Amino acid sequence: MPIRRLPEETVNRIAAGEVIERPASVVKELTENAIDAGATRIEIVTAAGGVALLRITDDGFGIPRDELGLAVERHATSKLDAGLDDIRTLGFRGEALASIGAAARLTLASRARGAADAYEIAVEGGSVGDIRPAALGPGTRVEVRDLFFATPARLKFLKSERAEAAAITEVVKRLALAHPAVRFTLAGSDRVELTYPAADTVAERVAAVMGADFATDSLGIDALREGVHLSGYAGLPTAGRATAAAQYFFVNGRSVRDRQLSGALRAAYTDAIARDRHPVAALFIDLDPALLDVNVHPAKAEVRFRDPGLVRGLIVSAIREALADGGMRTSRTRAEATLAAFAPRSAPARPIYPTVPARPLVAAGFAEEIQAPFAAFTPSAVAAPAVNQADEGLTLGAALAQIHDTYVVAQTRDGLVIVDQHAAHERLVYERLKRAHGHTVPRQILLLPEVVDLPADDVARLAERGPELAELGLVVEPFGPGALLVSETPAMLGAVDVRGLVRDLADEIAEFERTTGLKERLDRVASVMACHGSVRAGRRLKAAEMDALLREMEATPNASECNHGRPTYIELKLADIERLFGRR
Ligand code: ADP
Ligand code: MG
Repeated sequence: MPIRRLPEETVNRIAAGEVIERPASVVKELTENAIDAGATRIEIVTAAGGVALLRITDDGFGIPRDELGLAVERHATSKLDAGLDDIRTLGFRGEALASIGAAARLTLASRARGAADAYEIAVEGGSVGDIRPAALGPGTRVEVRDLFFATPARLKFLKSERAEAAAITEVVKRLALAHPAVRFTLAGSDRVELTYPAADTVAERVAAVMGADFATDSLGIDALREGVHLSGYAGLPTAGRATAAAQYFFVNGRSVRDRQLSGALRAAYTDAIARDRHPVAALFIDLDPALLDVNVHPAKAEVRFRDPGLVRGLIVSAIREALADGGMRTSRTRAEATLAAFAPRSAPARPIYPTVPARPLVAAGFAEEIQAPFAAFTPSAVAAPAVNQADEGLTLGAALAQIHDTYVVAQTRDGLVIVDQHAAHERLVYERLKRAHGHTVPRQILLLPEVVDLPADDVARLAERGPELAELGLVVEPFGPGALLVSETPAMLGAVDVRGLVRDLADEIAEFERTTGLKERLDRVASVMACHGSVRAGRRLKAAEMDALLREMEATPNASECNHGRPTYIELKLADIERLFGRR
């Protein structure tokens, strides 16, 4: 067959395939147009997941009658004044209306600012109709019916009505987060109506979209580096989720999905959150448009930074700083939750009487004798604090007892502290390992080197990281193609399950292989090791061990959370306890 130029209609349908993937893409394009037109109110109506009907109405500056024809033409735009290097609008490709018109039945009605009348133009499967008068207030209304009727192949790829409706909601949420001053409503026969009233602040809109919980369980971020401004909210580690779906990034007001940005977020939380948990965040990056390429993707969902390292570094350091400052707040909120759980309704119906005779509480060996968990809370226990004066100033107080072989109870000057021994020990080992970077940590030689069976690629990966692992106290070498020989382990881990440790390390290294720098890599390895080396819950501690644990926690940074983001201790103030007993 000879080479031919494709007819305009076919070209538009091909383009439509790139720009318009599903109903949610149409909503994104049309709502972005409304925002670019300076709208303050945008109404979106959908039916049947957006396939039967999408209608977007705005109060923006509209389109003059004599430009309606151009608006639906491909590569026709009013937005690219300053060229591709200085894009300040959401649209710039001049493709959306043409693409939608090629794939569906589109009616574009508009009354331009200052004009007395409204006009409309229709496009059905690529054929453009005449301009006719319409009834409309100032602004623009775009109606799309029978989406993909002209490109039926695409229809087959759509998910259920409900899934498409949900994808539209997600698009509207993202746009709403980026444009708090605009009022959005999303309604239709296929959904529960959603309204975001115009908000005065980003915080207000973030709370409306992401929930009031996120507003209280997050830290404000505001940092500037070399002209790049990062702002927004980063969730507390304890508010982490099972997926990364609640992570929102905006670059110059444009919602983007960018692996580099999510990678930076992950890196910022490495110390703070479990590997299988994902932080919640809404982060806004604003920078000179000249330092950005937004013309990477037909749907404009990706961007390229001129200096990706700068943006990444800014995210990592700003969030880490906020997390370090916010650590104490985490434990505070949790203590409040604990108090709520202690509320009188849940108190036992009968008072608990002493079950063990009064005795000095910090005597060596006491821990072994505690049987009933309530014993430590008996009136006699409170009445006989054997805490010496020197201990009173200690933040975590003096260890009184261990309960359920899992928690250490300590008395402070003005309250009591309950420590999760496993979580606390894990954080301590982790911080010790991290401090050891640069000089080798003490190792113990295994009496019998252990051979661990592993897939060949894992063996290769671990062997390749051999020198780094050795620095952290783990000495490994390949043992044939499918096994690894472990001869030494970090001394501070004690007796450790070598197989479990090596397998987890292999997973971890496979995951971060290409994405992170040396320092982060070592931190993540340290995190895996710490988890394996920790004092297990259920191990009985001697009084001296308990005190040693508390003293080391006081001396360790970030000690209020384990490296999975769980708290290591909670604190109840005496005043709180008195309130529980109605003394205040
Ligand atoms: P782009 O947004 O990339 O310019 P579109 O195909 O989405 O391309 O829109 C083409 C043109 O139509 C826009 O440049 C704009 O001038 C006009 N337009 C589209 N939607 C609206 C709207 N809601 N209000 C005002 N003008 C609009
Ligand atoms: Mg557009």
